[in-house]
Amino acid sequence: MEHFNTKDIVEKYKFKFSKSLGQNFLIDQSVLEDIVQGADVSEEDFIIEIGPGVGTLTRELLKKAKAVCSIELDSDLIPILEEELKDFNNFNLIHKDALKVDFNEIIGEEKSVKLVANLPYYVTTPIIAKLLNEGYKFKSLTIMIQKEVAERINAKPDCKEFGALSVLVQYYCDTHIVRKVSPASFVPRPKVESIVIRLDKLSEPRVKVKDENLFFKIVRESFNMRRKTLSNSIKNIGLDKEKLNKAFAKSNIDPKRRGETLSIDEFAKLSDNIYDLISSQDNL
Ligand code: SAM
Repeated sequence: MEHFNTKDIVEKYKFKFSKSLGQNFLIDQSVLEDIVQGADVSEEDFIIEIGPGVGTLTRELLKKAKAVCSIELDSDLIPILEEELKDFNNFNLIHKDALKVDFNEIIGEEKSVKLVANLPYYVTTPIIAKLLNEGYKFKSLTIMIQKEVAERINAKPDCKEFGALSVLVQYYCDTHIVRKVSPASFVPRPKVESIVIRLDKLSEPRVKVKDENLFFKIVRESFNMRRKTLSNSIKNIGLDKEKLNKAFAKSNIDPKRRGETLSIDEFAKLSDNIYDLISSQDNL
């Protein structure tokens, strides 16, 4: 790969970094290569990138993909990107907040859609939640995020990192850590370590549930107060104590357990039994 120097571009345009926009730009060629390889980018792929910065990762993606559409919020970066990437006819730039984008409008009829991003850390979780909950047809999401968040996403039951974010992501995706990245790979240096993680969308959610909203509500409430027992955490879910205990018994789950010990399958079973009991009392 030809070397592309982030620091030179920043200097050339006298660009001022914005901390509030989570601007830490990559300067490490080996990380760029590993992201592109980790995302398995090929010439059939339509890539959506969130937060291109001065276009360091974008350029590498453009060389490999059919097309790249990048979404950038900072108006100071728009003319820089237009100038620096003008030689690529497979590049499209959208000046918008990624949290407000309808990705279906960008995806259109594209078949092989992959999201690749060095995400701004201040909005990592809302962006991931949006990308997964809104049901877009991404094949995969390869994202660089804060190490602790990646560990939570990748966590299995019975460890302290396992939480609502683990369940949300693993409900929709298989997770695969690509590599760790040290603060020295960025300018300016962030305070935290980072991880590149790939989320491969499953063709169907990992478990089939009768009511997704109820399932995620139970998951969120089970992890809200981590020290509480399950029966305490979800006591306001819509069933009296006796019926709630019945739902636990039918699911074969001890109500004294804590949320972090439940597998996704167990959350699904519990959610369906609670759903059945709520429906039968609503029909009385
Ligand atoms: N991709 C570049 C790189 O790897 O060097 C820059 C990554 S930097 C961590 C995050 C980028 O996201 C910045 O360019 C920032 O301006 C942009 N950004 C921040 N909030 C955003 C939002 N809500 N929507 C779109 N872009 C955003």
